[in-house]
Amino acid sequence: MKDTMTKTNARLQIQPHYSLLINGEYVESGSGQWFETYNPASGKKLAEVAKANRGDVDKAVAAARQALNGKWGRYSAARRAQVLNRVASLLRERFDEVCELEVLNSGKSLANAQGQVMQAIEDFELFAAAALVHEGSTKPVPNGFFNYTLKEPVGVCAQIVPWNYPFMMAAWKVAPALAAGCSVVLKPASLTPITAYVLADICHEAGLPAGALNVVTGSGADIGAYLVEHPGVDKVAFTGETTTGKDIMARASQTLKRITLELGGKSPNIVFPDADFDAAIDGALFGIYYNTGQSCEARSRLFVHESIYDPFITAFVTKANKLVMGNPLDAKTHIGAIISEEQVQVIDGYVQSALADGARVVYGGKRPEGPEFAQGHWYLPTVIVDVTNDMKVAQEEIFGPVIVVVKFKDEKEAVKLANETVYGLAASLWTRDFGRAHRVAAQLKAGTVMINSPFSALPGLPFGGYKQSGFGRELAAESLELYTETKSVLAYIGEKPLNPFGV
Ligand code: NDP
Repeated sequence: MKDTMTKTNARLQIQPHYSLLINGEYVESGSGQWFETYNPASGKKLAEVAKANRGDVDKAVAAARQALNGKWGRYSAARRAQVLNRVASLLRERFDEVCELEVLNSGKSLANAQGQVMQAIEDFELFAAAALVHEGSTKPVPNGFFNYTLKEPVGVCAQIVPWNYPFMMAAWKVAPALAAGCSVVLKPASLTPITAYVLADICHEAGLPAGALNVVTGSGADIGAYLVEHPGVDKVAFTGETTTGKDIMARASQTLKRITLELGGKSPNIVFPDADFDAAIDGALFGIYYNTGQSCEARSRLFVHESIYDPFITAFVTKANKLVMGNPLDAKTHIGAIISEEQVQVIDGYVQSALADGARVVYGGKRPEGPEFAQGHWYLPTVIVDVTNDMKVAQEEIFGPVIVVVKFKDEKEAVKLANETVYGLAASLWTRDFGRAHRVAAQLKAGTVMINSPFSALPGLPFGGYKQSGFGRELAAESLELYTETKSVLAYIGEKPLNPFGV
């Protein structure tokens, strides 16, 4: 089956079948195979999705190279910016449909999807603007010489994204790559393949030439790894688990590809005794339960000063009890579904391990009851106390709505406990003491530190990790550097020819 892309076929409703998108055409996998994708909230089948094989990846990489050497490669920065701005305005026009598709794709609440699709729109606008001012420079050089630098696209980029923010993560990757003039082979997570295709449809509708953005779906361990090793790929941008990131780094090293890794986290949230108590409660709730806890930057370790520990937990649990879990398409829902049954079991396994280690569950710790939760994958917002920092539940990423609470006695101990992790993605702290806020922010080993704020990732601000949370900063204008090579051109312009050997 071959279905040439037209100007009007952005798939704004669930389709029974999704083909691969290679060189601007919908094509079936060379193997003819496909897999099923499900709505996590209902457990019902959504669609069949083509399962790419390595031959399909070769074709996608070749199409991306051809685009780079062809029409797309000749687009000026201004013309690339026009395309990106058009993507943003088409997304604004189709906002409701795209949000609804993302809810079905991922099980997240509509409110979460709306925030994330809006952020994707702002990413495209940000990078459209950034493309226009991503300039080379002239450097001071000795008399008789002239130098300038050029910013050139890195080339063909493999972009591999996870299931927790399927649409937004795809936008975080695709927007800067296209802004820099690169071409892309995008591989969405197998659990959430649908909205990557929607994004690509809209990019083409906005005037992106064929081959500049290709989408392949299929097993990460197979075609993802193959993409990473592919000699036709110049750069890999990956968001996902730290263990997968390590594998990608090892594979990419064989061809010395440029890599950006946005990996896991176990981010701390520190509440000092002088904090605005209510704001800290609300911020801590949002920090963990946003996106049903399936966030790389989830503030999943709550450090509370011993003097306010008991009232803080009581107030936190009271508020957690007010969060609405249920139909993700209902605008009042705070907490959506868990991505899969396997993930529910992972989450519950961590809760059981905490109990075995002597911690206590004071809220949640199980699947919700009731007919609305009989289908699909669900887990209650959970609060675990009496946790010590050495417990598995305090050290490993759970990726679910589970917060662990640890007591501290002073600022020094808070910083020490917060930094005692292999991760370093984000950290929040709550205090009214200006000096303490900035003193602690300086000591936290994290790519993003939030003072009295639950929000971590805003378009325009660099986002990425320290330590095993990866490297490279996305979401900011400087992220264009991740998709650019700098070429230095040195010219001799003196009157007399140079004769360096003097012979
Ligand atoms: P995975 O690492 O399992 O998968 C991420 C993507 O990589 C998927 O598309 C997957 O494909 C693919 N993949 C899997 N194995 C390989 C491989 N060997 N080579 C190449 N690609 C591969 O992560 P999850 O999807 O489980 O996502 C959750 C993780 O993402 C969490 O650890 C979370 O912290 C992290 N994350 C980090 C963010 C950040 O900015 N730092 C933001 C969001 C999430 P397939 O689905 O087919 O297996």
